[in-house]
Amino acid sequence: MSDCIFCKIIAGQIPSTKVYEDEWTLVFKDINPVAPTHLVAIPKEHFAAIHDVPAHKMEAMQKFLEALGTTVREQNLVSGGYRVVINSGEHSGQLVPHLHAHILAGRDLSWPPG
Ligand code: 5GP
Ligand code: ZN
Repeated sequence: MSDCIFCKIIAGQIPSTKVYEDEWTLVFKDINPVAPTHLVAIPKEHFAAIHDVPAHKMEAMQKFLEALGTTVREQNLVSGGYRVVINSGEHSGQLVPHLHAHILAGRDLSWPPG
């Protein structure tokens, strides 16, 4: 989508600090980190949210989950633990309507989340 911030990051029109990229997925550092490690993983195809991904696009979700696993291994987050958060809709606090997963690590993460 032409007016989507994350699509612009994928297109290189907005700079980002990339930590992982393949054909399907991009992972970059969050511009406003809320944990010592705060990464944002996005599928390169624009979906507004999980509930907007059609059944015939599930290969993108498989690749997305694989990229999350690769990223947490490569970034050495496995031993200390990490949290993956996907906000969807108003009450969740989702600001960017391009499906994305936050990867949070490096401190104790409270539960239940606020
Ligand atoms: P949401 O609230 O939609 O789940 O999370 C969106 C996240 O994207 C926020 O944590 C915010 O800091 C991050 N973000 C928004 N715009 C940019 C940007 O231009 N660059 C980067 N690196 N992160 C962004
Ligand atoms: Zn987008």
